[in-house]
Amino acid sequence: MATSFAGAAVFVFRGCWHRKMSWPVRAQDYSYQVCMGCGIKRLFDEKSFRSYGPYSYELDRLMAWERGHRLKAHSQAADSSERSAS
Ligand SMILES: [Zn+2]
Repeated sequence: MATSFAGAAVFVFRGCWHRKMSWPVRAQDYSYQVCMGCGIKRLFDEKSFRSYGPYSYELDRLMAWERGHRLKAHSQAADSSERSAS
């Protein structure tokens, strides 16, 4: 009985669709939103006014992902400029 109740609680928790996100919060160079339902965080782009990237409860992880993402975007831009030049 107790086990099935805990299982149901986990299901509800994981079933959160993160529909109610807070207003963007600024932290250092980053903006992120927090889910009002479960507290998960997601990066927020102030320029396009959209959230993006993975969800994570740990802001450190999102920041690490963002750093990697920025590097990747840089290298991709370099690739495409090389291609268009040739
Ligand atoms: Zn949520």
